[in-house]
Amino acid sequence: QEKTQILDAEAMRRALTRIAHEIIERNKGIDDVVLVGIRRRGVPMAQRLQQKIKEIENKEIPIGTLDITLYRDDLTTINNQPVLQKTNIPFDIEGKTVILIDDVLYTGRTIRAAMDALMDLGRPRSIQLAVLIDRGHRELPIRADYVGKNVPTSKKEIIECKLQEIDGEERVIIVEG
Ligand code: 5GP
Ligand code: MG
Repeated sequence: QEKTQILDAEAMRRALTRIAHEIIERNKGIDDVVLVGIRRRGVPMAQRLQQKIKEIENKEIPIGTLDITLYRDDLTTINNQPVLQKTNIPFDIEGKTVILIDDVLYTGRTIRAAMDALMDLGRPRSIQLAVLIDRGHRELPIRADYVGKNVPTSKKEIIECKLQEIDGEERVIIVEG
């Protein structure tokens, strides 16, 4: 099985630092900005962004989490059903700018489900999306506002995002399916 490394630990750190700066710049500060990480790997990413933003702006912004599982009912992604499992957003999102955070953006179905879940909780002022990797193949009109790296993939390839907090190592690789 062939493995190609796309990002090492330093490149990941730089990408997240850049995204933290972009979030602050785009929103002219971070008043009324909240982060929502999509489990599992969006959650440590959200924590790292929170930490970086705190170092820059001296303010700690709230983090919530969403747990969304994909159910594959056949071999085409078009029938995949993202199902909301758990929501942990212990703050009011009414009027807030909510930044969704996930490791990989693919068809966009998970983000669609995440947006539905947010809309059920209140009326955010806006929703933005940050991902470490955009691997293409969107099936919905969804795009990311903040991207660590665009990685054109074939549908057979899989991106493996290894994060220290979960995997005990830090790198992103492409694996041939
Ligand atoms: P979606 O197709 O909904 O955009 O992606 C489905 C879910 O699977 C998302 O949580 C996304 O992060 C994850 N995902 C999709 N493709 C890959 C991939 O190649 N590698 C990893 N690690 N996660 C993926
Ligand atoms: Mg994911």
